[in-house]
Amino acid sequence: MKFKIDFSLDRRKLLAAIGAGAVSATTFPVFGQAAPLRKVVVIGGGMAGATVAKYLRLWSNQTVDVTIVEPSTSYVSNIMSNLVVTGQLQPSTLNYNWSKLTGSYGVKVVKGAVTSVVASGTGWSVNISGLATPLACDRVVVAPGISFDPVLDNVSQPLAVLHAWQAGPQTTQLRDLLAALPPTGTFVMSIPPAPYRCPPGPYERACVIADYLKRNKPGARIVVLDANPDVMAEPVNFKNAFSTLYGSNLTYLPGRKVKFITAGIAAFSGTVAVDVVGTGFTEAYAGDLLNIIPTQRAGAIAQTLGLCDATGFAPVNGVSFESTIKPGIHVIGDASKTALPKAGHVGNQGAKICADAILRLFANQQPYPTPTANSACFSPLSSTVASWLTAVYQYEQQVDLSWKYVARDQVSALTGATEAGAPSVQNFSKMSTWYKTLMTETFA
Ligand SMILES: Cc1cc2nc3c(=O)[nH]c(=O)nc-3n(C[C@H](O)[C@H](O)[C@H](O)COP(=O)(O)OP(=O)(O)OC[C@H]3O[C@@H](n4cnc5c(N)ncnc54)[C@H](O)[C@@H]3O)c2cc1C
Repeated sequence: MKFKIDFSLDRRKLLAAIGAGAVSATTFPVFGQAAPLRKVVVIGGGMAGATVAKYLRLWSNQTVDVTIVEPSTSYVSNIMSNLVVTGQLQPSTLNYNWSKLTGSYGVKVVKGAVTSVVASGTGWSVNISGLATPLACDRVVVAPGISFDPVLDNVSQPLAVLHAWQAGPQTTQLRDLLAALPPTGTFVMSIPPAPYRCPPGPYERACVIADYLKRNKPGARIVVLDANPDVMAEPVNFKNAFSTLYGSNLTYLPGRKVKFITAGIAAFSGTVAVDVVGTGFTEAYAGDLLNIIPTQRAGAIAQTLGLCDATGFAPVNGVSFESTIKPGIHVIGDASKTALPKAGHVGNQGAKICADAILRLFANQQPYPTPTANSACFSPLSSTVASWLTAVYQYEQQVDLSWKYVARDQVSALTGATEAGAPSVQNFSKMSTWYKTLMTETFA
């Protein structure tokens, strides 16, 4: 495999590359002679799991047996779900399934949730709820996404909070409660400490909800309580939107970590108490609708399998996404702990690096030593304009000799991600092309 970054790309070519959802100029070896038949079980058929399954089949010339185990009958995309919350998109635009992966690539799909994985000979035995016979395989790929930590210090179980951070029934529930917000009501949302799924996502939600309120309930307002010290992604465009577009109806408060909630009379209303980080003070904010996004960690099965460290995420070797705790098991997507952001586009890229590494390992080769991934994210800032954020992530050796993914601007090659110069209608239209391309790249 030859990953190549062309740092001389101009901005137009860059956007075309993002639209293609591609790792820049990539060619892959064909692993057609793998013998004996190798088997891989993928736990979770989301952004990362669906991609790794597809590319294991595609790049092995369909010689590796690949099974996705997934409890749901369809996948609901988180990406674009903020526009379902505001009623701009229909929920059906978020629905995907695995029929094309099965029909075009021969990926097998078993319905069920993985409950345990046990070492068996040189491979693994994967136990699935409701299935008497475990699945045997050579390697396991764990891609369960995230789970939510208890958010408050006065409860021991995850609260019944309305986060809508795992798209599905909560997405439409938040949409319906937003539509029912009193005309002069207050919408309070909280942002968890990083790392969390989709760094720009909460700020995007704050903007599109402020836009919705401006258009539909001009007397209502939104209060954003951020546990982080500052806006975590696209700071220029989001802060600009907070102070200009939404200067009159959005209050952004960094350094506010949710401490506890006192329930109100209406569903998901009440008062949120927050620690003002680093001061020892507590403040309280009353809301007619509370959208609390809890602290996150890897999906529950990654915890059960003992793949996570104290951060709650699973440390992996960046060249293969193989667990550094349990070799032979790979962890991809949001559940893994790398310097890559937790995003669907990145989950797709990491899954390809993992698929390539597994095929090389099956062919008794070493994983490619310096893989590259890219990240692109379009963020709607209203119902008509969007911004974007992008970076190339190069796996490279650091001065202390450790290895990690380092973000680089695709144009200047300087360290760090690049955000759009300004939000625009044109970006909003490109966002739909990017979304369709990424989802086709993953599920078709
Ligand atoms: C509001 C919002 C907006 C976002 N916008 C963007 C964006 O614009 N761009 C972007 O790149 N990313 C975005 N993201 C982030 C993106 O959705 C996630 O990073 C991505 O879905 C992670 O992929 P994943 O495969 O790790 O997890 P998921 O996509 O969540 O998939 C996990 C799958 O694992 C299954 N599973 C869980 N446990 C088990 C088990 N025990 N056995 C079998 N299967 C199991 C689940 O059912 C699920 O299907 C957004 C997220 C949110 C919440």
